Amino acid sequence: MFENAPIIKSTKEFTATRNACKLCAPLGASVAFKGIRGCVPIIHGSQGCSTYIRRYLISHFKEPVDIASSNFTEEATIFGGAANCHAAITNVIGQYKPEVVAMTTTCLSETIGDDVKMYIHDFQKDSQLKDLPRFVTASTPSYQGSHMDGFHEAVSSAVKAFAKGGDKGTHINIFPGFVSTEDLRQLKYLLSDFGFQFVMLPDYSETLDNPIWESYKRIPEGGTPVSAIETCGSAAASIEFGTILNYGALSGRVKNSRLSSTGANYLENEFGVKNYRMPLPIGVKNTDRFVKALEEISGKEMPLRYMTERGRLIDSYADGHKYIFGKKAVVYGEEDFVVAMTTFLDEIGIEVILAATGGESGRLADEIKANCPERGEQILAKNMFDYEKIREWCIDNKPDLFVGNSKAYYIARELDVPIVRCGFPIHDRIGGQRIKHLGYAGTQDLFDQVVNAMIQYKQDHSPVGYKYM
Ligand code: SF4
Repeated sequence: MFENAPIIKSTKEFTATRNACKLCAPLGASVAFKGIRGCVPIIHGSQGCSTYIRRYLISHFKEPVDIASSNFTEEATIFGGAANCHAAITNVIGQYKPEVVAMTTTCLSETIGDDVKMYIHDFQKDSQLKDLPRFVTASTPSYQGSHMDGFHEAVSSAVKAFAKGGDKGTHINIFPGFVSTEDLRQLKYLLSDFGFQFVMLPDYSETLDNPIWESYKRIPEGGTPVSAIETCGSAAASIEFGTILNYGALSGRVKNSRLSSTGANYLENEFGVKNYRMPLPIGVKNTDRFVKALEEISGKEMPLRYMTERGRLIDSYADGHKYIFGKKAVVYGEEDFVVAMTTFLDEIGIEVILAATGGESGRLADEIKANCPERGEQILAKNMFDYEKIREWCIDNKPDLFVGNSKAYYIARELDVPIVRCGFPIHDRIGGQRIKHLGYAGTQDLFDQVVNAMIQYKQDHSPVGYKYM
């Protein structure tokens, strides 16, 4: 019945957002906090927010995701959440014995103006408990930012809470952004192969993608230790992926501009740690940029293994070119992901006709132009888009391919267009958390997926099909 349903196109102008192409800010903050060792995030607000966030993360990561809630009721909503905040911290300490308690705020607690920093200060002052955990807080009103704003806000809060200065070391900081657990592992291999000592923040490669356990662990192993974050201020350099980062709605509307600076940005301003900021290393061009920075910092050449990976990738570009050249793609998701993915598709000869995001930085178009100098002007870049706008636009403009998370599946199905799943969230496939995107190896996987999606589409729609390429 669904297949035969006519395509209905809305003719009215909508002012409301329908099925936003972004997720909520405390969700992103929770992911970042899960990448700190021994950390239990607490969402300061109602149960509904944390239930939604847990459900989303469990569906993508296929892991237990323990996130506490301060469980607002009507009373807390009216009189403030101090008592709930203290009760939540006490319960979490009692049940989890965490090394770190990370508090992230919701729309509700921000709207009533709860001063979470003060609540925690009072708790530390009055508590009779011995050996209190370390605390960090992130201000993440979701109406002022997407999950990426929340993610970067949490990273920056952790750096501000724990990093110290000191004599310059030889280690580096790496701020990978919200990428897959497999991406984090690949980055760690590359940095180790280069001979670097490094602090990766966050590192949820194990905490959100564990091996099987014999018995349940309340706090999974892995994550960046606070002791490592403390050394970030004495690092030789930082590498930060993303050029838009949290330059979203948190910037400008929030009076305190320190809120919108990133972790690496703070380390550069406060301790003079040079920041190499660059787009996510997806595609040859962007990965070369990352490798060049590593060569510059280390004074060493890229290890042979990666030169070979690069060579194989370029060879495959030549092999697959005829199946994808000139195809029209729609790319959607978080802003920095959209910029990097658009750059990659442009590099392999696919025409991105729409680059859409729910992010609100207003910088998407400029970043795409800067990274795709030849075709960038022709790419329609849309901030603050939702999936219904994408759907309506696609009915008229007929793309050949969707590239992004699984939330556009219903549009791809309706329009009979293949979808290459990547980014976050992936709800309708196994292994979404393990998709590789970064570096030559990640690009290779993506390239193969894109070409094979187009070949499969051709086979499925051919009256005879074909077996040889
Ligand atoms: S109310 Fe705000 S914080 Fe809670 S789930 Fe919705 S967007 Fe997120």
